[in-house]
Amino acid sequence: MKRPKSIDTLMAHHGENRASLEGAVVPPVFQNSLFTFKDWDDIDAAFTDRTQRPIYTRQINPTARIAEQKIAALATESRTDIDAKLTASGMAAISAALFHVLSPGDHVVAVKNVYGPTNNLLNRYLRQKMGINTTFVDGSQLSDFERTITDQTKLIMLESPSSAVFTLQDIREVTTLARSKGITTIIDNTWATPVFQKPMDMGVDLEVHSVTKYIGGHSDVLAGVIIGAKDRIQKIAVDEGELLGGTIAPWNAWLITRSLRTLTMRLERHQKNANAVASFLEQHPKVKQVRYPGLKSHPQHQLANKQMSGFTGLLGFELNTQDLDAIKRFFNGIFLFQIGVSWGGHESLIYAPAISYLKELPPERFKDLGISLGDIRISIGLEDANDLIDDLSKAFERM
Ligand SMILES: *Cc1c(COP(=O)(O)O)cnc(C)c1O
Repeated sequence: MKRPKSIDTLMAHHGENRASLEGAVVPPVFQNSLFTFKDWDDIDAAFTDRTQRPIYTRQINPTARIAEQKIAALATESRTDIDAKLTASGMAAISAALFHVLSPGDHVVAVKNVYGPTNNLLNRYLRQKMGINTTFVDGSQLSDFERTITDQTKLIMLESPSSAVFTLQDIREVTTLARSKGITTIIDNTWATPVFQKPMDMGVDLEVHSVTKYIGGHSDVLAGVIIGAKDRIQKIAVDEGELLGGTIAPWNAWLITRSLRTLTMRLERHQKNANAVASFLEQHPKVKQVRYPGLKSHPQHQLANKQMSGFTGLLGFELNTQDLDAIKRFFNGIFLFQIGVSWGGHESLIYAPAISYLKELPPERFKDLGISLGDIRISIGLEDANDLIDDLSKAFERM
């Protein structure tokens, strides 16, 4: 099929060869572990062409290929050499990408606010088991990277915006620096989604996502994806994909294709709702600050506008108190927002980072890490924005 320009049209039809599937408007699930062959020559040819022809689902599954082709098309406006590989979870994508790039003795520069398990994988697992050392930097200035790179630096790991504190890195500047030194770059693009930010068009080598969040969007599937140049993705599929085995299940891949059809529409609503809620919070007297790259008051709003075409619905704010009882009264006074981790689904969620930090640190130490007892994180869902604002207003009154 010739590629149309609009991503909505691509999400509706791209990657689907309906004529070969009885014309099924929704593709069937290839819920099978293996594929069978006519004779010796047929299976022999499949092995010769094993990066293209399905033999075993840990290697290739046609249901996953449909979603992978849609995601690859979504990830770039200008390149024709991009492919995508779905994985069982976002962490399966991140670990496969890291294992693909790194060898013992390599040095990594990572932004300090990367997703917690990514931080643990680099800082604990890869350091202790493989002698791979990571230096964490703030990442808001190019000089953070320039002065940390050594001759051993193999990888720069980005997450922009970060899903913890919503800070950005200038993606073009960092990839230009990395390329001049032969350093590979990986970005976790989960917050922005491939709809609002296209790192493949900004010189990034590998893009990873937790598909569990906006791309899945319905809080009913765990999945991840690695996006990059076709030859690199094929190498990852054969090595880390097949050898580490973090393969997506066919049924989960089918759910991702279902989700991709409505991704841009859902994001429009998440954006509109988040903008309304963030603006409401920003002028509320019980709120000290709001962390949302879509707000003019965000310190990197200009950079955000330069490298993103929109903003999603996960944001943070700080209550104007350090009194844990008042903070709990606010938290427990919320009804429409469900209490829970994760984000990017149809439902609005609330979480307080202090709940996990308090297990390891006394509140006096919070300041050193740039966090506050009164930090609240909300994921804005697809409900009516006025209902969400009303729910928050009432919770503020209960403080
Ligand atoms: C959730 C998340 C991940 C991990 O994804 P899973 O699908 O839970 O494995 C990675 N990065 C970010 C930014 C996330 O929010």
